[in-house]
Amino acid sequence: MRYIGRFAPSPTGPLHAGSLVAALASWLDARAHNGQWLVRIEDTDTPRCVEGADQHILQQLAACRLVADGEPTWQSQRTHLYEKALTHLINKGWAYPCSCSRKEIEEVYASQGQGIARHSAAVYPGTCRDGLNGKPARAWRLNVQAVINDLHLPQTLQWHDRRMGPQQQNIAREVGDFVLKRADGLWAYQLAVVVDDADQGVTHVVRGEDLHDNTARQILLQTTLGLPTPIYMHTPLVLGEDGEKLSKQNGALALDVSDPLAALNRAAGGLGLKPHETSLNDALQDWTQEWLSNQTLF
Ligand code: GLU
Repeated sequence: MRYIGRFAPSPTGPLHAGSLVAALASWLDARAHNGQWLVRIEDTDTPRCVEGADQHILQQLAACRLVADGEPTWQSQRTHLYEKALTHLINKGWAYPCSCSRKEIEEVYASQGQGIARHSAAVYPGTCRDGLNGKPARAWRLNVQAVINDLHLPQTLQWHDRRMGPQQQNIAREVGDFVLKRADGLWAYQLAVVVDDADQGVTHVVRGEDLHDNTARQILLQTTLGLPTPIYMHTPLVLGEDGEKLSKQNGALALDVSDPLAALNRAAGGLGLKPHETSLNDALQDWTQEWLSNQTLF
């Protein structure tokens, strides 16, 4: 069976303990399938990117012997592909320009006596769906209901996660018309990731559980663009001492790879794999075997 997997870090800082778990899991899964493992630097959100973080991440992966099959790619060099996908969606009448700022969206909710919970994105109320009323276009959004109607898709999208089992989301109700190109002109993660996964022939996505909630939107976009849907698996998150998930945003420490075996042992522990004290190569080989015997691979 053809298998292409990938690790797709955003260069917003060096790898931390949590991101190494996702990197190791995707690497092991590719090895266990005799597949290819790609590395894609997701640097579309330029204001959040840190100079040199891409090279730092590649060095950290190399120190852990997680080396890509093929040259790494950078999303910033692939924007023509995102442009082409957006043009297609516009021509089909499935994407529309939006003039709303976050403040204006909040005001719509406030006028209905509702607030938006902190750190949660509001379901877009659809203000610009039927036209901009002379206001300037800022972002582009997917018209979720139009796509569902035109392609005769079910209102609730169902998908399967290899670790977490059956999943479902009513995108129109729970997320709304999501952004494809942002008001600041930058490409939205959802569009870029879908276009790249398909363009690179990715068959299996293995990534952290914090991205699980994006999957239904990505599957809908794949269907909309006529692209295949990969098989998904979301790996457990590494929690900090405070019980919160570790992330670059909450200041998780950069991964120390001066002792790569120790770093990998911690990541392997997060995946329920046995610790190894021998050599890096033996550890990676044994974990691949252990992964193979633990997982439902297909
Ligand atoms: N670039 C994303 C991140 O680092 C991951 C994207 C993905 O694996 O789909 O959060």
